[in-house]
Amino acid sequence: MINRLKILYELQKIDDQLDELEELRGDLPKTVEDLETEIDEIKNTISEKELQRKESMGKRKKNESQIEIATESQKKFKAQLYKVRNNKEYDALTKEIDHTEELVKKHEAENNELADLSKTLADEIDEIKPKLDELSDEIKKKKDDLKVIIKANEKEEAKLNTQRKKLESQIKKGDLSAYMRIRKAKKGKAVATIKRSACSGCHNIVPSQRQLELRQNNRLFYCEYCGRILVSAEISESVAV
Ligand SMILES: [Zn+2]
Repeated sequence: MINRLKILYELQKIDDQLDELEELRGDLPKTVEDLETEIDEIKNTISEKELQRKESMGKRKKNESQIEIATESQKKFKAQLYKVRNNKEYDALTKEIDHTEELVKKHEAENNELADLSKTLADEIDEIKPKLDELSDEIKKKKDDLKVIIKANEKEEAKLNTQRKKLESQIKKGDLSAYMRIRKAKKGKAVATIKRSACSGCHNIVPSQRQLELRQNNRLFYCEYCGRILVSAEISESVAV
C-alpha cells in the first residue's frame, strides 16, 4: 500500500515538472493555433472567390458563343428577307430576327454584369492577400520561437516522460483514472500532502484523527474539502524527484 501511495506522489512530482516546462511555452502554442485558424479562414475565402471568378469566366465564354451563334443566324435571316414571297414569310422572318436580337442583348447584358463581378472579386482577393502574407510571416516567427523553447528543454522533457511512463505502468488503473480526473479538475494538482496539519492543496486543517490514519499509509484518503488524494508527510518526504 505504501508503494501505491508513493507512486501517486511521484507521478504528481513528475507532472509538476512537466507542467512547468509547458508553462515556459506561455501563450505561444495557443497563439500559433489561433493564427493557423485565421490563415485557414483567409485561404478558404480566397479560394471561394477564385472559384466564383472562374465560374463567372466560364459563363461568359458560354454566353459569347451563344452571341456568336445568334448573330450568325440573324445574318442568315436577314439575307432571306430579300427572297420572301409573301407577308406571312416576311413576318415569320422578322420574328426570328427580333428573337436573335433579344438573345444577343440578353447575353451581352449578362456578360457585362459578370465582368463587373469578376473585377470586384479580383479586387477583393487583392485586398485580402497582403493580410495572408502578414499572418504567414507572423506564424513563422511564433513557430520558430516555440521551437527554440521546446528544443532547450527537449532532453529534460523526454527524461520526465520516460519516468512518467514507467510510473504509469506500475500504477493501478483505478488510481490512475482518479488521479487524472482530479488533476484535470484541480489545475494539475491531484495529490496533496500534510503541511502544518493542513492539506497542502487547499490549506484546510485535516482532523487529527484523519492525520493519524494517514500516517498508517495503508489506505487511499481524499481531502474532504478539495477532493485531492492525501498522502502523509512521510511519503512526500521519502519521494525526492
Ligand atoms: Zn484539500
